[in-house]
Formats: sequence, structure tokens, C-alpha cells
Amino acid sequence: MKKLIHIYFMIFVPLAILSSCTLNNQDEEVVEVQPNVILLIGDGMGLSQLSAAFYYGNTEPYFARFKEIGFINTSSAKHKITDSGAGATAFACGVKTYSGAVGLNTDSLEIPNLVEVLSGIGYNTGVISTSSVTHATPACFYAHVKSRAMQDEIASQLVDSEIDFFAGGGSNYFINRKDSTNLYPKLEKKGFLINTDIESVKPDADYKYGFLLAKDGMPTMLANRGDFLPNYTQFALEYFTQSEESFFLMVEGSQIDWAGHDNNAEYLIAELLDFDRTVGVALDYAKLKGNTLVIVLADHETGGFTLAPNDGDYSTIKPAFATTGHSTTLIPVLAYGPGANNFKGIYQNNDIYNKILDLTKK
Ligand code: MG
Ligand code: ZN
Repeated sequence: MKKLIHIYFMIFVPLAILSSCTLNNQDEEVVEVQPNVILLIGDGMGLSQLSAAFYYGNTEPYFARFKEIGFINTSSAKHKITDSGAGATAFACGVKTYSGAVGLNTDSLEIPNLVEVLSGIGYNTGVISTSSVTHATPACFYAHVKSRAMQDEIASQLVDSEIDFFAGGGSNYFINRKDSTNLYPKLEKKGFLINTDIESVKPDADYKYGFLLAKDGMPTMLANRGDFLPNYTQFALEYFTQSEESFFLMVEGSQIDWAGHDNNAEYLIAELLDFDRTVGVALDYAKLKGNTLVIVLADHETGGFTLAPNDGDYSTIKPAFATTGHSTTLIPVLAYGPGANNFKGIYQNNDIYNKILDLTKK
């Protein structure tokens, strides 16, 4: 990443000299900058999961701040009910594909993803996840493989990608691989610092950052994951802010889905509230800095979750599940910032890709 200071001297100083006769200080500071995009994906977060934040949180949910709201149909190319591979490929590449695919269309051809397209026009990019960073959802933003199960190969593709920042679990796929290679030296060669202590260090735009904080998925909130997701999101935003370039950051609350598969309401609500706090970090940043689009959505619903009455008693809720798999209920899309009104309405999941590029690729 290039530091902000460089562009200051390249643009503002010459501008100030050239225009000092006719323009005042305010005019000199008008520079068109492409908007930042923070895409927050609550894996498996349907409307009932999102609603749980309104009944189980101690404060008003950050979700409540959004005014621009839409719905997406998440069906894959071949099935009414999608998996996370096809679901995230739709967002990242703009195509509906087959279940399990990562960044490929139904003919298994590689389709350019948002990280490739946006880094090609000067964006810095990052992914953060509470699963392994090589899991289906984050993988679709930088990799292209036939099956989401190919996490060793996905890790190799992460090293070769344009990603500047990643955080999550999955060290096994980098240093405990079937081919016995260690990918850490390759990452360091590309300018990455690995597992920096974010409590004691301020982010430096001269480096890239990689955090692999668990062998596979991160711990659950019930097993004391703590503030990983909001804190690393905050650190990523501080990192990107030091660059003159705009950024695209994908943040995934992966385990809302895993709790749904487990039909475990306590686990689900803990993951959901953690995700909502992370949405708050993104919204606070966007409000403070401006020129930042925040989008919150899900790839699909998991568990057929609902907030049912407890034995017919309408004064208390007893969460219930209809399946241990995914469902195809329409998924809410919440947007804030420049271009947020484009996310209203009811449309297809792969339209998200074009709506993001409509704003950023000018
Ligand atoms: Mg996922
Ligand atoms: Zn799932």
C-alpha cells in the first residue's frame, strides 16, 4: 500500500501552488475518491436470525440504524437452496453457479471476482472470517477452484492473490499441508507480516497483514472467542485508512451458519450478537470517514430458524428450527452510505456484484 503522505505532496502541494491565485483552501481539497466498500456477510443469517438481535441483545442492535433495505433470492444455478460456495460466488463474481463451486461458473470457467476487479482499479482489499480464511465464503473473493473442499489449493491461491489483509483461522492450510510446503515464507516475500500483535502495534501501510489465529475455524463465541471479529475489523479499517487508495473489505460472521446446522439457539444468538457488534464498527467508521458503503447480507438462511412462542405463550420466545440444513427464504440486504439506495427492492443474489461495481468502477 502507498502511504497517504505521498499523494498529499503529489497532488495537494502542486494544486496549492498552481491554484493559489484563484482558489481558496476549501476548493483545493476537493478530490474525487472512489468509495470504500465494507461487505458484511452473516453466513446463514435469515430474517429470524437478524430479528434475534432485537430480542436478545442488551442494547438496540446496530442493524436498526439502516434505512435502505432490500431482499435477495439466493437460489443457486441448479438448486432452489444454495450452499455457501455458490452463494458467495454470486456476490463475488456476479454469476449463479453450482453448489460447492468457488469462483467458477456452471461450465467450471474462472470468473473474475471483486478482489481482482477492484484491485485492478486501485483498491486495496481484505477478508476477515470466523471460519478458516480458506473456507467457502471468503475463498470466493480471491480464489477459483472446482470444490470448496480444496482448502490447501485455496491457501496457495490466497498467497498469489491481490489480497492485502486477511484474518481468521486456517493455519493448517498454510503450514500443515498435504504437500508439506510452508506458505508463510511465501507470504512474507509478498510483504505480509504474519500474526502481528494488534494490541501493541499500529498498522503500517508499507506492509500487508495476515492473521491465522486457529488451525481451522476460529473458536465459537461460547468458547470465548471474545472480540476477534470487531477488533480485527477495526484494525483492518485503521490499516486501510493509512493508504491514499480506496478499499474493499469482506467480513464474515461464519458461525451463525454453523450454529444453525447444530440447531443450537444459544450458540446462534451469541454469534449473531458478535456479528451485529462488528456491523457497528463498520457503521461507525462509515459515519466518521464518509465515502464508505456498508452492506450487510447473508448467502442463505440456515436451520429454518424462527422465534416461536414458548408452549403457546405469546409473552416468551422459544427459538425453533425446521431443518439442520439451509433454507431458501429471501434474505435481507441492509445498506448505508453512497449508493445505498441501489440496494432497495427484491432481486437476485448475483445482482449484488453489479450493484457494487456500479458504484466503484466509474
Ligand atoms: Mg461461510
Ligand atoms: Zn451451511
